[in-house]
Amino acid sequence: MKNPEYQAELYKNFYIKTERTFTRLRKYAWLFLFVAPLGAWWFPEIGLLIIPLMLTLTIMAFFNGKYWCGNICPHGSLFDGVILSISKNRAIPGFLKNRWFAAVIFTWFMVMLGIRLVKVMSLWGETSFPAKLGYIFTMNYTVVTIIGLLMAIFITPRSWCSFCPMGTMEKLSYKLGKLTKFNTKTDRKVSVAHEEMCHKCGKCSRVCPAQLTPYLEFDENGQFSNENCIRCETCVNNCPAKILSVRNAEGAKSERQNIDLEGYREKVRTDAEITEITDLTDDTRRFTFKLLRDRMKFKGGQFILLKIHKDPEMFRAYSIAGYTEDGTEFNVIVKKAPNGFGTGIIFDAFRVGDVIEVEGPLGDEIVIKNGDNKLLFIAGGIGITPFIPLVDEALRDETIESVKLVHGVNFKKDFIHQEQFEKMTTDDERFQYYPVAASCETWNGEKGFVTDVIDKLNIDNSHKVLMCGPPPMIDASLNVLQIKHVDRENIYYESA
Ligand SMILES: Cc1cc2nc3c(=O)[nH]c(=O)nc-3n(C[C@H](O)[C@H](O)[C@H](O)COP(=O)(O)OP(=O)(O)OC[C@H]3O[C@@H](n4cnc5c(N)ncnc54)[C@H](O)[C@@H]3O)c2cc1C
Ligand code: SF4
Ligand code: SF4
Repeated sequence: MKNPEYQAELYKNFYIKTERTFTRLRKYAWLFLFVAPLGAWWFPEIGLLIIPLMLTLTIMAFFNGKYWCGNICPHGSLFDGVILSISKNRAIPGFLKNRWFAAVIFTWFMVMLGIRLVKVMSLWGETSFPAKLGYIFTMNYTVVTIIGLLMAIFITPRSWCSFCPMGTMEKLSYKLGKLTKFNTKTDRKVSVAHEEMCHKCGKCSRVCPAQLTPYLEFDENGQFSNENCIRCETCVNNCPAKILSVRNAEGAKSERQNIDLEGYREKVRTDAEITEITDLTDDTRRFTFKLLRDRMKFKGGQFILLKIHKDPEMFRAYSIAGYTEDGTEFNVIVKKAPNGFGTGIIFDAFRVGDVIEVEGPLGDEIVIKNGDNKLLFIAGGIGITPFIPLVDEALRDETIESVKLVHGVNFKKDFIHQEQFEKMTTDDERFQYYPVAASCETWNGEKGFVTDVIDKLNIDNSHKVLMCGPPPMIDASLNVLQIKHVDRENIYYESA
C-alpha cells in the first residue's frame, strides 16, 4: 500500500466521471460562449453583456454561495458538459486550491481590470466608448475560456474554478450574506440526513467537480458549509446511501429531528482480523473476520463497513453474508469492480492475519421483522449476499410460512451459494429457489431476468418483498410487483 507506484496507479481510479449536468441550463449554458467571448471579437459591444453577468453572479452569491458556478456559469457548463469526457480528471494540485493563491489571482485581476477601466473612461462620451469597454471584458472572458479549457483537459474540468476571480468575488459576497444573516433562509447547502447513516465511502468526494470532501466536513447540523461548494448536487445524486439533499439550515435541522435511526444505533467501531479468504468465482471472494475486542449483534440483511483507506478515511459497505451467533465472527462476499478503487485495495492488499477497522452492523431496510410470514427475496448479481443469512433466519423461524428466493445473474458463473440453496429446497418445503441467467449458453435453467420469474410467481399483497441488486433491476421489479398487486409498503430494497 505504501509503494508510491501502487498508490499512483490506485489513484487513477479515485475521481469518477459521472453525469454533472442535470438541468437543461447546465447542459447548454456553454452555448453562450459563442456569443461572448467569441462573437464579441467581431462586435465588441457584445462584451458589455459580461457586466450584468458579473453583477448577477455577485448578487446571487450573497444569497446562495457559488450556486452560479454549479448551475448557470457557461464556463462551468463547458467544462462539465463537454470537456469531462476527454479530461484527464486528475487531482487538482494543492497550490491551485490554496486561498492565498486565489487571493493573489483576484487582486491581480482586479488591479488589471481597474487600470484598463480607468484608461477607457477617458473615452467617455465618444462613439468608440462602448466597443472599447466591451473589448476589455471580452479579453478577460477569452483568457478565462482558454486557460480554463486547457486546465479542464489536462487536469480536471473544474481546475480553473478553484481560483477563478469571479468565484472569489462570489465568496466575498457570500461572506457578507452570512455576516448580515440576510441569507439564512436562501442559503441551501448539501445536508446529510444523519452522519450515523453515512457509509464513509467517499463517493461524494470522488464525484465532486470541485474535489471537496463533504462526508468529512458535516457540521453539527449535518450541513456541508465549505464556501467552495458550487451547489451542483452531483454528490447528492451519487450518494449510494441516498442520505444527501440540499436544504437551508432550518430544513436540515428538521430533517435530522425526524430521521429514523433504527438499524444504526447498535453499531460498533472496532478491529477485526481476517481469518480466511476464499475464492468463490474468478472475481468474487469471501472474507471471514474475527472481532478482536467487541461483539456485534448481527441480523441478516444488515451490512458492515470495512476500512480501505486511512487518509482520507474511507470505508466500503458489504452485506453480511454469514455470522456466528456469539457475535464474534462474520463474513462478507466481495465482487471485484472493474477499475474499482475499493475492491482494488481489498483484492490486492487484504491478507489473512491483517487487522482491519470495521463498523457495524448497519441498516434496517432489508431485515426480517416480526409478523412477516410470506417472504419473497429478489437478488440481482452480487446482491444475493444478504439473502444467504436471511434465508437461514427465515427458515429457522417456524412462524414463517413460505420463502421464495429469485436470483438473477448475467452468466452461470456468477451464481453464488447455488448448491446450498438447492439443498435447502429439498430440506425444507417452505423454501423455493429460482436461479435465472440472462445470457448464458451453458446454463440449462431458467433464462431471462428476475422480472420474468416474478411475473410467473403465485404472489399477492400478503407477501413481504425484500430486494437487493442494481438500480435497473430494482426499478423493473417494482413495476412487475405493482402489476401483481403488491403494495409499495410491503416492498423494501437496497441497491448494492
Ligand atoms: C449497503 C450496501 C451493501 C453492499 N454489499 C455488497 C456486497 O455484499 N458485495 C459487494 O461486492 N458489493 C457490495 N456493495 C457495493 C460495495 O460497497 C462497493 O461499492 C463495491 O465493492 C465497489 O467498490 P469500488 O470502490 O471497488 O468501486 P468504485 O471505484 O466505486 O467503482 C464502482 C464502479 O464505477 C466504475 N468507475 C470507477 N472509477 C471510474 C471512473 N473514473 N470513470 C468511470 N467509471 C468509474 C468502476 O468501473 C466500477 O464499476 C454494497 C453496497 C452497499 C451500499
Ligand atoms: S457518498 Fe458515501 S461518504 Fe458521501 S455522504 Fe453518501 S454514504 Fe456518506
Ligand atoms: S460538495 Fe456536492 S454540491 Fe458541492 S461542489 Fe461538490 S458535488 Fe457539488
